[in-house]
Amino acid sequence: FQVMADLIKLSVFVAPNQPIDPEIAAKVCEAHGFRFEREKREKGGGVHKVEEVIKEPEAPKVEPEDQLKLRPPIITIMGHVDHGKTTLLDKLRNSRVAAGEAGGITQHIGAYQVVHEGHPITFLDTPGHAIFSDMRARGADITDIVVIVVAANDGIMPQTIEAIKHAKAAKKTIIVAITKIDLPAANIMRVKTQLAENGLQTTDFGGDTEFAEVSAYTGEGIDTLLELMALQAEVLELKSNPKGNARAAVIEARIVPGRGASATVIVESGTLKVGAPFICGPFYGKVKGMFNDRGEAVKQAPPGMPVEVIGFDELPNVGDHLSEMKNEREAKALATERQEVQRRQRLAPQHRARMEDLYAMVNEGGGKAQLKLILKCDVQGSVEAIKKAVLAIESKKVECVFITSAAGPITESDIQYASSTDAIVLGFNVKVEGKAVKAAKSEDVQIKLYSIVYELIDQVRDAMLGLLDPLT
Ligand code: GDP
Repeated sequence: FQVMADLIKLSVFVAPNQPIDPEIAAKVCEAHGFRFEREKREKGGGVHKVEEVIKEPEAPKVEPEDQLKLRPPIITIMGHVDHGKTTLLDKLRNSRVAAGEAGGITQHIGAYQVVHEGHPITFLDTPGHAIFSDMRARGADITDIVVIVVAANDGIMPQTIEAIKHAKAAKKTIIVAITKIDLPAANIMRVKTQLAENGLQTTDFGGDTEFAEVSAYTGEGIDTLLELMALQAEVLELKSNPKGNARAAVIEARIVPGRGASATVIVESGTLKVGAPFICGPFYGKVKGMFNDRGEAVKQAPPGMPVEVIGFDELPNVGDHLSEMKNEREAKALATERQEVQRRQRLAPQHRARMEDLYAMVNEGGGKAQLKLILKCDVQGSVEAIKKAVLAIESKKVECVFITSAAGPITESDIQYASSTDAIVLGFNVKVEGKAVKAAKSEDVQIKLYSIVYELIDQVRDAMLGLLDPLT
C-alpha cells in the first residue's frame, strides 16, 4: 500500500500486479533507501546481467561550503494588467546603459540581467503569474523575489490580489513597486492601506514589506527599487557552486531560422560552456553556441545568467532542466530511455483529475485527497459566494483547494494551468473560449459548466463525499 501511495504521488496509477517503468521503480526504491538495478535476460541462456543504468548527474543536496559563491537574484514581476509591468521591465533593462555597459542590441530572449552597483540582478522578461505558476508546477521554481506592481492611480485590483496570493503561497520574498506616481491621480497612501488590508504591510506602516515608489516615465524611484532587490538578495544569501556540474532551467524555447531549436535557460548552478553535452527532459544536445540578452556570443554562462542556447536535437519544454552530461553518447542514451518512458506513458490510459473519480483515489491513496479547482464566473460577486460555499463543505477525506478563481470566460491559459496542476475547471455562467475547448481536449482537462449556483455546490459536495457515480 505504501508503494501504491508513493506511485500516486508520482501521478502513476496502476493496479497491484501491473508492471511499472524502470525509471519510476528507481525513484520509489530510492525513496525507501534501496538501490534499483535492472535485470536483463540474455537471449540464449537464462543468464541475468545488470544493465548499465545511465543517470543524469543530480545537483548535490549539500554543496561544499567553500565552493559556494553568491549568485544573482532571479526576479519575476507580477501585478494587474495595465499597471505598468512591461514598461517597468523596459525601464529597468535600460538602467544598465547608465551603468556604462557597452553596446549590443537588446534581444528579447525571455530574461535579462542588469548590473546594479556591481551586483548582477536577473529579471524574467514575461510578467504575470501564468509563467511563474507554470514553471513552479513543472518543478522549475527559479524565482527568488517577486515584485508586485500596483499602479498608484488605480490601487489594488483582482489580479494584484491573485499575484500576492501566488507569491505568498510560493513563500517568495515580496517587494512592492508602486508605479505611475507621476500621474496626478496617484494616491500612494490609499495603495499602502489596501496593501495592508491584503497582508502586505509596508515598512513605513510598521510592517516588513519593502517597497519603492516609482515612475517608469520620469525614472523616479527606479534606483531605489534596484537597491532593494540587491539588498533582499543579500538577506537571502543566494549561493550556488559555479564549479559544479552545470544545471539550468529552460524558460523559453523557439525555433530560430538558421539555428534550429534553441532555448533560453537560466543557469542554476555550475557554469555552462560551449561544447558541453547535455540532457534536457527527453531531449539531448550539445551546446553549439550561446548568446546573451544583447545578442552577443558568449563562451560561458555562470549561475544566474540567462543565455540562449543552440544545439538541441528538438525543441525542449519550458520548465525542464538542462543538465550537463559526461559525453554525448550517454546524453543520447538517457534521452532515448526517457522518450521510451514517455511513449509508454502516452499509450497507458490517462488518469487526469475527474470529479467523479476523486473519491476512489482517496481510498487508494490513504491520505486526504485534494480536489483542485479553477473557478471562472460571470461576476466577481459569484466568485466570492461560490468559493465561500464550497470551502464551507466539510469532508474528512477530501480537501478543496482553489488554484485560481476569477471573473471572465474560460481561457486557454486556464486549461494549461489546470493541466499542469491537475485541476478541474468549473465555470459558472461563463463561456469557454474556442482555443480553450481545443486545449481541454488535447490536454484531457475536465470542464464543468453550471448556470445554477446550488447545482455547482451540490456537485462539488457530492464529489467530496464520494456520492457521484464514477465515470466509466
Ligand atoms: P502591463 O499590462 O502591466 O505590462 O502595463 P504596461 O507596461 O503595458 O503599461 C500600461 C500603460 O500604463 C501604458 O500605456 C504605459 O505607457 C502606462 N505606464 C506604465 N508605466 C507608467 C508610469 O510610470 N507612468 C505613467 N504615467 N504611465 C505609465
